[in-house]
Amino acid sequence: MYRALSESDNTYDGIFIAAIKTTGIFCRPSCPARTPLRRNVEFFPSADFALSAGYRPCKRCRPLAPAGDAPAWLRSLLDMVEEDPAARITDADLRSMKYDPVRVRRWFKKHHGMTFQAYLRARRLGLAIGRIRHGEDQARTAFGHGYESLSGFREAFGRIFNITPGRSSGAVNMYINRILTPLGPMVAGATDEGLCLLEFADRRMLETQLRTLRRRMNCTITPGRNEHLDRIDEELMEYFNGSLREFKVEIVVPGTEFQKQVWSGLRCIPYGRTLSYEQLAGDINRPGAVRAVGRANGDNRIAIVIPCHRVIGADGRLTGYGGGLWRKRYLLELEKS
Ligand SMILES: [Zn+2]
Repeated sequence: MYRALSESDNTYDGIFIAAIKTTGIFCRPSCPARTPLRRNVEFFPSADFALSAGYRPCKRCRPLAPAGDAPAWLRSLLDMVEEDPAARITDADLRSMKYDPVRVRRWFKKHHGMTFQAYLRARRLGLAIGRIRHGEDQARTAFGHGYESLSGFREAFGRIFNITPGRSSGAVNMYINRILTPLGPMVAGATDEGLCLLEFADRRMLETQLRTLRRRMNCTITPGRNEHLDRIDEELMEYFNGSLREFKVEIVVPGTEFQKQVWSGLRCIPYGRTLSYEQLAGDINRPGAVRAVGRANGDNRIAIVIPCHRVIGADGRLTGYGGGLWRKRYLLELEKS
């Protein structure tokens, strides 16, 4: 990949993305810009990984444009996003600016494999936590983002996640961090007590879940890491290489009694096995509550560790999964093998 990049080899365009640590920019392999040193480049399978990792698209090779360039009708919209990547642009906003939301969504789906809203979320997320790396402390992260102070960073972070600055006593702090997995970047959150959030970065629910947690736990949220986040990072790596079958990380799951029952029921499903919603409802002595069990399953905030992917339809079909069916299939196959 590095050789392709240094030769600006366009036959690799679309195969991988090169991100330049020193400038925070990501490029196509064919980018005409001068090639940085090998140690300053990291590679990703696609643009959404680079976005979630906090990189900006290069203005020269425009890695987010399809081969060639973005169509004229879309260019002003892309420019607007680049000017203020933290901004929220709803379908109603699009319409008021004379864009057809359906057409915009289709174009993004076709060229980037994600909807426009997913793209915006990836952009915001990348902006907020992308630069956090092992060994970087919070302050350095804040300054690395170009914010003037730590409080400035917190404010910007709050704005990006639509979290109002803490008025609460806020004795509890939740650190959030990004973890790269073979299924794409995930966002993990943990207080001193344990892990309370693990979700795929492109999930629409993510921002809502963060706000729910903040309210329920009366906590402040800051980018950073603690022992539980280090632990889950390690455990996930072992899980994905097949050497870990049971997660040991401490978890914190605020919720209703019923939700907690369902979630602990999920944790009893052994690695490599599946249950139907009916069986799960029976297992937790709530045989009549199949639908409610399904809902609580969907409300799970700690993906993989609380293995909601191990619940399938009574007829053996996979049924839904918040992170997408392809991920569920991957997880089940990983555990079967
Ligand atoms: Zn470039």
